[in-house]
Amino acid sequence: RIAYVDGRYVRHANACVHIEDRGYQFADAVYEVWSVFNGRLADTQGHLDRLDRSLNELRIETPMTRPALLVVLYEVIRRNRIKDGMVYLQVSRGAAPRDHFFPAGVKPTLVITARSVDRKVAAAKAETGIKVITQPDIRWGRCDIKTVGLLPNVLAKQAAKDAGASDVLFVDSEGFITEGGSANAYIVDQAGVIRTRSLTANILAGITRAQLLKILGSTDIQVKEEAFSVAQALGAKEVFVTAATSLVMPIVDIDGHKIADGKPGPVATALRAAYIENAIANA
Ligand code: PLP
Repeated sequence: RIAYVDGRYVRHANACVHIEDRGYQFADAVYEVWSVFNGRLADTQGHLDRLDRSLNELRIETPMTRPALLVVLYEVIRRNRIKDGMVYLQVSRGAAPRDHFFPAGVKPTLVITARSVDRKVAAAKAETGIKVITQPDIRWGRCDIKTVGLLPNVLAKQAAKDAGASDVLFVDSEGFITEGGSANAYIVDQAGVIRTRSLTANILAGITRAQLLKILGSTDIQVKEEAFSVAQALGAKEVFVTAATSLVMPIVDIDGHKIADGKPGPVATALRAAYIENAIANA
C-alpha cells in the first residue's frame, strides 16, 4: 500500500509524520473520508467543501488548491489500485515545538491513505442490520467541525463493541439522539415520516445525509429535520444511520430492544440502494 505524506508517495508501512505534529499532540487537525465506487470518489465536491469549512473554522491553512488536491487523491487511488474502497485525508496545523498558541510560519501536514472495501461484506451487514447501544453525548460543543479529536467516539464505540453491538447512538442531556458514533441518525416514525436532527454545532453535517435528503426530495416520503428521543426511536418503524463508510445502515436493535420485527425495514433498504445508484452515477 502507498500513502501520500507531505508531498511524497511512500510505502504505507513506513509512512510517518513528526513527533511534534500538532495533530498528534493537540488533535489540531481535520479529516475527510470518501467512499470510492469503480475507482471514483463519491460526493467529491461535498467533502471538499466541508474540508474547506473545517479548515476555515480552525484557521488552518489550505494545504493545496482544489485541482491539485484532486490530482493527489486520484493518484493515491491509482497507486493502491482501488476499485471499491475508502480514501482518508487528514490536514493538521503542522509540526512545531509544543506550545498551545498557533505556531508562526508552519506548513500544514497533509496525509492521504486509501484502502479497498469488500462491498459484498458491507451489503451482507446491511441485510441483517446492526445492533447499537445508547451513550451519553459527552463530546465538545463544535461537533460540526470534522476534527480528529475523536476520543469520546472511540470510548463510546468500544463500549458498544464490549456490549456485543457495533455502534452507538449519542444521547443529549434532554434524552434526544444527536447522531451515531461516526454517522448521522434517522427514524421512520409510525406515520412514515423520516426524522433526523437538524444541523447545529452538536452534530456533523454528513455529506451522505445531504445527498440522502436530496434523493428524498424527489420522492413522496415526508422528511422532518427534528430531534427524536430514545423512546421515539424504540417505538419507530425503522431506525438507520448514514456515513461515507457505512452508506445507509439499518439499526435493528437499541440497548437490547428490537426495532419493529428486528429486521431492516423497506425505507432504509430502498434508500441504501438509491444512495449507491446515485453515488455511482455521479462519481
Ligand atoms: N457524524 C459523525 C460523528 C461522523 O464521524 C460521520 C462520518 O464519519 C458522520 C456523521 C457522517 O458524515 P459523512 O456522511 O459525511 O460521512
